[in-house]
This record gives sequence, structure tokens and C-alpha cells, in this order.
Amino acid sequence: MALSFLNFFSSDLGIDLGTANTLITVRGRGIVVNEPSIIALEENTDRVVAVGNEAREMVGRTHQEIATIRPLKDGVIADFEATEIMIREFIKKANVNRMMVGKIVVCVPSGITEVEKRAVRDSAERAGAKEVHLVAEAMAAAIGVGLDIHEPVGNMVVDIGGGTSEIAVISLNGIVHHTSIRIGGDEMNNAIIQYFKKNFNLLIGEKTAEQIKYEIGSAAAFEEELKKQVKGRDLIDGIPKTIEISSVEIREALEDSISTIVEALKISLERTPPELASDVLDRGIILTGGGALLKNLDVRLREETSMAIHIADDPLTCVARGVEKILDNAERYEKVLLRHRRTM
Ligand code: ADP
Ligand code: MG
Repeated sequence: MALSFLNFFSSDLGIDLGTANTLITVRGRGIVVNEPSIIALEENTDRVVAVGNEAREMVGRTHQEIATIRPLKDGVIADFEATEIMIREFIKKANVNRMMVGKIVVCVPSGITEVEKRAVRDSAERAGAKEVHLVAEAMAAAIGVGLDIHEPVGNMVVDIGGGTSEIAVISLNGIVHHTSIRIGGDEMNNAIIQYFKKNFNLLIGEKTAEQIKYEIGSAAAFEEELKKQVKGRDLIDGIPKTIEISSVEIREALEDSISTIVEALKISLERTPPELASDVLDRGIILTGGGALLKNLDVRLREETSMAIHIADDPLTCVARGVEKILDNAERYEKVLLRHRRTM
């Protein structure tokens, strides 16, 4: 009796714990947190100074006593303590009392190991979860996009996140084939930083590189190429300087990252069982994750694979919207939850 009374008031949460962004959904309330996966801690005391957006503003601008940390790397937890703190702080931001947390469904990469699963589960439990379920990100993305994953039909989803790009073929509630590469938006930002160093002796920060990517980055030529003024510090005389850069040059900087994604996609298509490959040919490939927003990526992938390429609506929230549906229809989606060993 007492338990069901508590259950009535408890909140079920969904967490898309991404390398770049964390999204939290609360059942019945939709997406309530959507912020960068970053925390700022005081070095000596480990006191939390800021999380999410506020912590991101501090990146590259902190003094010695404050460290900004991105607790996830390549889609998985790299810093356990920092991840736990981050989840806890975000749940607070979601206005959910720790005591009132019910079930938590967390999205994880398909290639996650048992040890990594355990780390995710422990973090969610310590954040107050009475029950923790894991779901593959690609599956959540497919559900978020609105695909009918119960059908015996192949659907291919390509999710380009901050640390990784995941390619998955889904059919009958399961992932039939998946590939993950450690190339995503972070690598693209880094490639832009290196390009400026090498070609212009100009040092630019990560945020600047990302802004350049958003505005003029692309994976295939434009009819009219774009230009942008970029501020950085000259590596030779140390003086701040502005140069004009074109989308042609940024495309060159991004080429290695893009061609790695293209190759992985081609290999995945080759390895997809024939019946499912034929479904993918009919239905096309769906792009999700923030990287799907890179200009002309769809054009490039279409050229390279001769497949129809669809960019999901609001690709940055597909996974979170998928978890929301899973929370709302627990029975319908029971089969998509990952099995993991319970060790208590
Ligand atoms: P994750 O799930 O790993 O946290 P997201 O799906 O949130 O990743 O995507 C974040 C990545 O998408 C970042 O690397 C970001 O730079 C990139 N991104 C977001 N918007 C754009 C855009 N308009 N053009 C190119 N890349 C983008
Ligand atoms: Mg993601």
C-alpha cells in the first residue's frame, strides 16, 4: 500500500547520456533538460561550480582552481564520479526530488561492454533510480523518428554524435547489425583547429571551431560557397588576428572525418543481410544526432551510396523523444530494453 502510494508520486525518467549533450525526459512532461555534458568543479574540493550550459561557457576561460570536465568520451563514461555528479545535478534541474525518482531508462551505445553497462546502471541507481533499464541509442533514435521497429523490415539509422558515429540496422525489435566509429562532431572541430594551425599559423579555440562548422562546414560543394571572418591568435607573433575563410577550405579540413563516415557506411551496407539490404534500398537511410545537421551531408551520402538519405526532424532530440515513447508505452517497448546481468 505504502509502496504504491509512493509509486503514484514518483517520476520515471529517460536519459540520453551523450558525449556532447545530455537530455532528460520526465514521463508526462517531455524533455526537461537539454544541455551540454559538461561540469565545472573546484579542483581542491570537488565542489560543483556549474553544470551544462553554464559550465560550457567556462570552457577555456577558467582559472587554475576550476576544471571543466566532459565526463563521457566516445559515447561511454570516462569519468565515473563526474558522470554521477552530472546526472544528479541535471535531475535537480529537472525539478525531480531524488527520493521521488522511479524508473530510469538510459540510452547507451550498441557496442557497450558489460563493465560499461554496469557503470551506467550504478550511476543511475546512485542518482536515486529504483529501477534502471538500458536501451540502445540507435533503437531509441529509431523509435523517436517514428519507425515501426516491431515490423520484420530493415531500417538503417546513422547517428552522428559528438564522439562517435553509429550505424545500425534494426528489424523486429532488435539491432541486426551495428558499426561504431570514433569519429563524430568533436573530431570535426579538432580537424578545423588543426587546419588553421597548419595553414594559417592561427590558433583558434574549440568553440570557435564549432561555430565555423555550424555556419560554413559542409560535406559537399555549395552552388555558392560561403565565407566567414575568423578571429584567432597568430602563433608566430602572438597577436590576435582576423582572417576570412571559405566553405571550400573548411570542407577540405573536414574531409578525413567525412570520408571515414562514408567508408563505414559503405561497409555496413555490404554487411547487411540481403533481405534487409533490400528494405534499406526501398526505405532509405535515416540520419540522426547533431552531426546530421552538417550542411550537405545528405547530398554527399546520397552521391556515395546511391541510397535515399533522410535527415530526421530535429535530429538532436530523436533519442530523447524515443525514450519518452518507451516510458509512455512500457509494455509495447519491453522487448527493446537491453538485458543485463543483475548483480546485487
Ligand atoms: P551526443 O549524442 O554524442 O551527445 P549529439 O547528437 O548531441 O551528440 O550531437 C552533438 C554534435 O553535433 C556536436 O559535435 C555538434 O558540434 C554537432 N552539431 C550540432 N549541430 C550541428 C550543425 N548544425 N552542423 C554540424 N554539426 C552540428
Ligand atoms: Mg547521441
